[in-house]
Amino acid sequence: MRVLAVLVMLLTASAAPVASAQQPDIIQEHWYHSYATLTVDVNAWADDYPEIVDLISAGNTELGRELWLVRLSDWSVETKPDGAQKEIVYIDGGHHGNEHLGTELAFLTAEYYIEGWAAGDQEAIDVLTTTELHILIMLNADGNDLDTRWNFNQVDLNRNYDHYWNNCPPNNPTQPGSGPFSESETLANSIYMNTVVQDADLYVTMHTGVWIMLYPWGRWPEQPSDWELFHFIRDDVHENVSDIPIQNANQGLYPNCGTSRDYGYGVMGFPTFTFETDDEQWALGTAEPLSSRLGEELDVMQYLISNIWYWRARLSVTSFDFDGDSIGLEVENFGRATTENATVRYIDEGEVMWASELFSVNATNSTQANLDASNLTLSKSGHFELYYQKRVIDSSLWVNEKIPEELIGISDGEDTGWLPFASPMWAILAIGLAGLKRNEHFQDNF
Ligand SMILES: [Zn+2]
Repeated sequence: MRVLAVLVMLLTASAAPVASAQQPDIIQEHWYHSYATLTVDVNAWADDYPEIVDLISAGNTELGRELWLVRLSDWSVETKPDGAQKEIVYIDGGHHGNEHLGTELAFLTAEYYIEGWAAGDQEAIDVLTTTELHILIMLNADGNDLDTRWNFNQVDLNRNYDHYWNNCPPNNPTQPGSGPFSESETLANSIYMNTVVQDADLYVTMHTGVWIMLYPWGRWPEQPSDWELFHFIRDDVHENVSDIPIQNANQGLYPNCGTSRDYGYGVMGFPTFTFETDDEQWALGTAEPLSSRLGEELDVMQYLISNIWYWRARLSVTSFDFDGDSIGLEVENFGRATTENATVRYIDEGEVMWASELFSVNATNSTQANLDASNLTLSKSGHFELYYQKRVIDSSLWVNEKIPEELIGISDGEDTGWLPFASPMWAILAIGLAGLKRNEHFQDNF
């Protein structure tokens, strides 16, 4: 098998046109990528579509091969058209070198948006003007070319992450490596997660095995803290996109520790899925063209990517009244994730001057709160913001989003000594003017 794999690698590498173009469709659609053909293809993308393809290497395999990472977005603009920060998607493929269809799904996902952009397809244009896709297509290039699950050191890379590493029952033997991130491939992947895509609201890691999508946890049978988000996606996919089974990774399988999925959720706070394409392994190609063979999987990826805006809590204040003693607050959550431990904060010159008690807003729900604000003192240059976590899981990112000035109502309470100004009307005017001035600097807050 290994000899065959190497032979095929050489054949497909030499059959591919040099540098300037991708493999012909007849090869592209039926032969799985080797490291050599992947290298040709991703460099051709970067050459042909520099406006949307930013190709980097995220590091090296144990044998020194590049970890090609294709970054797709309309790089001529830094933000979304409305000035908001772009959404960030992280995808990796090929942890296991013999799971070629999973690697091909990562490749096809990139190809779908690149070719869509080139053809003027509106969906691809919309995604690339609002979203950054970061796709590390083949993490285990050494194992890929030998058609083996393991990396060069005979380690299972998907047991090598620093999340309950080597912590599973001993009756489930794995080869997790000598310590968390002992392997150059997983270390590079974790560094990229922590330094470049730490704001991601979707992480999909692609494998091959049983046709299924798995969300956390692998370590425990219990549902994850953000079960509402995962269950919403499961039900929505089933109703509108695909019948692919979607469940938590431990349930019905076996405990698995140190996986990139549990790391992505438990340490990074990403909504994370392991996407397992069907059960073909140990094969070098496919009779059915890949794009139709993986068509339904690609539909699911398009759904997850197009709707990424919803994969977190998205709070929006609908009313806000401060009467000198308390704040009456109504806040809606447009996202599919619940947030707990949210607060209203009062900020002046970058400092938190005051913070309210905690409140929660359930997914796709709204909350009314009456927050004690008897020790809050307004100033001419201060402003209110919401401070909350994107999801329930402890590790999920905190965001601070300015509450629009026009929503804030201020009335004189019973205690008239609370304002530093002569009258409440004066205060409203002062805050409003300060808000106008500050708005120039707050375009990237939402
Ligand atoms: Zn796998």
